[in-house]
Amino acid sequence: MKKPIIAGNWKMHNTISESISLSKEISESLKEVEDALIILIPPFTSLYEVEKIILNRNIKLGAQDVFCYEWGPFTGEISPLMIKDAGCEFSIVGHSERRTILKEDDDLVNKKIISCIRNNLIPIVCIGETLEEREKGLLYEKIECQIEDSLKNLTGEDIQKIIIAYEPIWAIGTGVNATPEQAEEMHLFIRKNLEKRYGNETSSCAIIIYGGSVKEDNIYPLIIQKDVDGVLVGGASLKSNSFCEIVRKAIEAQREKEGKTW
Ligand code: PEP
Repeated sequence: MKKPIIAGNWKMHNTISESISLSKEISESLKEVEDALIILIPPFTSLYEVEKIILNRNIKLGAQDVFCYEWGPFTGEISPLMIKDAGCEFSIVGHSERRTILKEDDDLVNKKIISCIRNNLIPIVCIGETLEEREKGLLYEKIECQIEDSLKNLTGEDIQKIIIAYEPIWAIGTGVNATPEQAEEMHLFIRKNLEKRYGNETSSCAIIIYGGSVKEDNIYPLIIQKDVDGVLVGGASLKSNSFCEIVRKAIEAQREKEGKTW
């Protein structure tokens, strides 16, 4: 069975001791789970400690951001080598909160993606439209531009080394998730766009996950969608019960999607 990806972005929450408690609870509860790829994404300060706690080889570690250079005079930035050293295999890149609040643009996002690939880190590349863009019918244009600019100079082989997270900005932290149909429609659009650029073989294997107010009660119909390969979870990843339930329901949904009945 294909493993759905469930990534928990803790954002700027949890001290080191709180991160240890939360990751212990999650790791204990999911220690037998084999049919999902689970990624915990704590703040930078907790990465090293969380890595030591993870019991399940299906639970991986990710960072919330990474800089585009390996070392140098970049005060306050964290290099891909440093987050790998702390145990990360993944890093979010271009989260809408960074694009909006810290004014990160597609050019910088592109450099970060290339740096991740160069350093064998898997970037989770966030793209998504605002409510205004959706209401004005500009959503496809926005997503197309973000794909074009963020993925500039990437080869088909590179596309196999990234995860794309479709995160409509209006759904992030608002409690209003995209409907499963809206998510599927956009994931299919992204896949078709990748097909145009890289061909069918690459686009059919591309990993596209959804993010925006995912919870225990909406995960199932999202994962059931043909082109939804997983989810990026913010708020609901901060409670171990909610997060573990999301993982379990995602596995059930994936089984149904693949026609398995056990
Ligand atoms: C996110 O931070 O990427 C996110 C999707 O947050 P939330 O689940 O809280 O909407």
